Amino acid sequence: SKQIELASRPDGEPTEANFKQTVVEIPPIADGEFLVKNEWMSVDPYMRGRMKAGDSYVPAFSIDQPLEGGCIGKVVESRHTSFKEGDYVLGTLGWREYWTSTGEGVTPISSDLAPVQAYLGVLGMTGMTAWVGLNRIANLSNNSTVFVSAASGAVGSVACQIAKAKDCRVIGSAGQPSKIEWLSGKIGIDAVINYKETDDLTAALREHAPDGIDVYFDNVGGDHLEAALEVMNDFGCCVECGMISTYNATEPPAAPRNLFKVVSKRIRMQGFIVRDHMSDQEEFTREMVSLIKSDKVVWEESIVSGLENAPAAFIGLFSGDNLGKQLVRID
Ligand code: NDP
Repeated sequence: SKQIELASRPDGEPTEANFKQTVVEIPPIADGEFLVKNEWMSVDPYMRGRMKAGDSYVPAFSIDQPLEGGCIGKVVESRHTSFKEGDYVLGTLGWREYWTSTGEGVTPISSDLAPVQAYLGVLGMTGMTAWVGLNRIANLSNNSTVFVSAASGAVGSVACQIAKAKDCRVIGSAGQPSKIEWLSGKIGIDAVINYKETDDLTAALREHAPDGIDVYFDNVGGDHLEAALEVMNDFGCCVECGMISTYNATEPPAAPRNLFKVVSKRIRMQGFIVRDHMSDQEEFTREMVSLIKSDKVVWEESIVSGLENAPAAFIGLFSGDNLGKQLVRID
């Protein structure tokens, strides 16, 4: 079975040299086990944190060991009573072709509602992150003004649509003309800022939110957070989901320089990790299914083929190669 291992820890931007492909033998399965062949795997910005030395809220990846992450595969052999050959399952052992399991931490999935890979995106971890951030952290009320950074990404694009479904005014930011077009056209948000073509993000945000913003869904940190604090209304909320602009930093980031605005504007700023909210998963799924069925949530996938191209797909997240959820199809 082919697998991708961490060859070295990135210093700044990750490169292909930080990864290596190896081949390992999979031992025969025992009673109570089943064998899965991965068909899809997810690459996610949080994996950059796991490539650093030292555990954060998730353990660090080890050098010369395979990476891990969300994946969807088919059971190809089973000696387990509840997982049968041909079943699709969601697991956490991406970055490899095959894995053996006793079923712990593995979720059966069906393609009745959406293609199976949607359980790595809109119906999975990234969709739920958007939902938790707005419903559990921001307690978003109807008709608020919401700013979402990395708005065309997996989490951001779902956050934009959940907010639109609550009749909010939604302003997004993204880094490419094609993404701007998709967000204002297909996704239908109210205004989009191309942050790469703006030298004053605060001015751009203020222009689109003359009455201020009530909620900032932060995927980016740095200058985006600084602009959001500047334009935030009193008693507004910053949902701290991620800060991708800092993940490859070799020096601590300078912005936000205006953190005192949290005090003067009585801003509530709260970070969260989606994994802490798994007890809400049923409610999330019910609501997301209903949003999908009523066409209030649509999604896009960027697909790279071949396990050997997973490192490139991961690296591409930091240059914005993806529109919507970045996936790797394992042939
Ligand atoms: P995305 O699909 O949004 O992919 C990353 C996107 O970020 C890129 O497409 C790129 O879009 C943008 N980006 C990359 N570098 C920068 C930069 N320096 N400045 C501004 N934008 C940048 O990834 P996800 O949806 O999976 O993740 C989005 C965020 O959510 C991340 O910060 C991630 O860590 C966080 N997250 C948090 C979770 C939690 O539990 N708290 C769970 C899951 C994700 P563009 O072309 O617009 O630059």
